[in-house]
Amino acid sequence: MSQRRPFIGGNWKMNTDHASAVELAEQVIAGLQDHADSGDVVLCPPYPYLDLVGRTILSSPVALGAQDVSPEASGAFTGEVSASMLLDVGARWTLVGHSERRHGLGESDALVGRKLARALQSGLKVVLCCGETQEERASGKTDEVNRRQLEIALEGLEPAALDAMVIAYEPVWAIGTGLTPSLEDAEAAHLAIRSVLGSLYDDQFAASVRIVYGGSMKPTNVAQFISSPEIDGGLIGGASLKAEDFLAICREILA
Ligand code: PEP
Repeated sequence: MSQRRPFIGGNWKMNTDHASAVELAEQVIAGLQDHADSGDVVLCPPYPYLDLVGRTILSSPVALGAQDVSPEASGAFTGEVSASMLLDVGARWTLVGHSERRHGLGESDALVGRKLARALQSGLKVVLCCGETQEERASGKTDEVNRRQLEIALEGLEPAALDAMVIAYEPVWAIGTGLTPSLEDAEAAHLAIRSVLGSLYDDQFAASVRIVYGGSMKPTNVAQFISSPEIDGGLIGGASLKAEDFLAICREILA
């Protein structure tokens, strides 16, 4: 495990309803009472349940996050949700550039960069996701893809603005599939991402940024991933929907 403060995000995606969102949030905060300040734990419910989940976790150390944010400040953008609205309902974090949005909904690297800049300017903390597809990995392009996604997203952003950013390395082929990279491959990708940060900024800044792994992280494989000093926690999808699994992952990372 690294020296950096651990980060764990639960990405509920388009799951739960009014009752199950509250129940899941209640179970998570009850199960984390003994780990109050050992790291950042963030729950990212669907937009309609943000306020509700925010109220449920209000006096707990668990923070509220959104799954996406508009690159625009306000105005005629039907269906979009702004950073200030997210802050207004209690969110402190947002995901940006999740692969289901990049690949499923066609978000470009440039759009991801605009969302990142807007969220940070507005005072939201951000989990910036990056990662390669199966095809890109097979053709040896993992590091090139991560470099491109990061360079475009970070363009024009000063290190001071990036204190509030965590990077999630999420190989697209590992998300929701049960497949995972070997520890060596995950570690190599994290090191390559850190070296991109070093080349864009400097080594001191690069060493300070938290980089977490995401993609089929489960209670059964979390220990292996966080045995690496390069892996600062996890972004969890499927396993965050079962309190027992999410709590087992949190306890391992926050131990
Ligand atoms: C994710 O959605 O970011 C994710 C990592 O999903 P899963 O854990 O289900 O692979």
